[in-house]
Amino acid sequence: MDHGCTRCTHLKRYASDLISEGIVLDSNQAGVIDAPPDPVPQSENPPTLLSEIPPELRALPEQQVRQPGTARGYTRLATMDGKNIPHRKCAVSTCTGPLVNYKNGRFCKDHLRMHDICSIIPCGRPVHSDGAVTCTLESHKEWHQKYLNRFSRLSFPGVQRVIRRQTQQQDETGSPSGPTLQPELPALDGVAGKDVIHTFRAGSTYCLQTVQWSCGCPIGWGKCYRSESSPQVLGILNRIWEDFPESRPSFLAYDDACNLLRHIVTQDPNSPWFHVTKLIVDAWHYIGHQASDILCRIWCNPAPANGSQPDLIIVQVDENGRTHKTRAFNTETAEQLNSWLTGYEAQLRQMTDINYDFVVHVLMLLYKELVEKRMAKKNEALSAEFWEQVESTD
Ligand SMILES: [Zn+2]
Ligand SMILES: [Zn+2]
Ligand SMILES: [Zn+2]
Ligand SMILES: [Zn+2]
Repeated sequence: MDHGCTRCTHLKRYASDLISEGIVLDSNQAGVIDAPPDPVPQSENPPTLLSEIPPELRALPEQQVRQPGTARGYTRLATMDGKNIPHRKCAVSTCTGPLVNYKNGRFCKDHLRMHDICSIIPCGRPVHSDGAVTCTLESHKEWHQKYLNRFSRLSFPGVQRVIRRQTQQQDETGSPSGPTLQPELPALDGVAGKDVIHTFRAGSTYCLQTVQWSCGCPIGWGKCYRSESSPQVLGILNRIWEDFPESRPSFLAYDDACNLLRHIVTQDPNSPWFHVTKLIVDAWHYIGHQASDILCRIWCNPAPANGSQPDLIIVQVDENGRTHKTRAFNTETAEQLNSWLTGYEAQLRQMTDINYDFVVHVLMLLYKELVEKRMAKKNEALSAEFWEQVESTD
């Protein structure tokens, strides 16, 4: 929590700073600087209506005006994202319990008795013999055999290949992306193959959610179980900051910040995740989303060109003496954590819940040491002069 470096921690900036730097502000609320190149992703969401926005979020954010005689202060930006690095869990889809047996088990201790009933839900008949997974119904036995033929011989690299291919196809057709493995299976009892609910094999957690300062320095992590939903993500954030209420980031960049913000404000309009921390989306998401989502446009713009978030914009002068507005925080280094973690994905997937948690935690500690080494080498530590300016009332 007390990490800070020149990449993730900046002096606080105010509207007056932008003006004195000679920035020409764009009055367009939807403007964004450094827009990513085409093609722009299209939003999957239908347009939001003003009436669907919680009342607290209908007004514009307050302008950042500095009160005379107050210390300047500083801002820190954190980023959060979900990585497809799961571990196994109970086969019952609504259950988050760990497996009793991680070698070849399928259930948690509360659902162990389900070993004795047919794995096709909601059949409920007893299994046809000890150790079998279906009842005596021919159609259930057959469907299980087809499932085995399609599925169980895929190795981990094989599964990865299928997911990659499917994700690629989804990207090409423009439908929602995200890795999903859909073995083609016949319909059963009038239910489409992909929708048949069964407990043939252990389930898996949905993703590993990591939170890091924008320089990549890890802060904390958590797991999502069924989807990357706002309530679970908020639970992870609350747990990470539970004992450090004064150390919340000024900004938190997250792909789905607009939906998370909507959830937070609906739950608790006084939440510090609304009043202390500003949730912003990444530029790529923003361009695709701003046209349809007023809330996203007003509150989650990652670099508003109208100067409403002076902390997110700095001015650079090019060799011809022209001034350019540019993004103040670079989140590229936070993305390096992702590729580093991917190197451990195959091992993590095979682990028990306890080993997984332990290893993820150790990996985060190791990565923090790497970031600190880089920081020392590149002279990115915060100087005494920086802290003087933070305290300064000038
Ligand atoms: Zn940092
Ligand atoms: Zn269970
Ligand atoms: Zn059955
Ligand atoms: Zn959005």
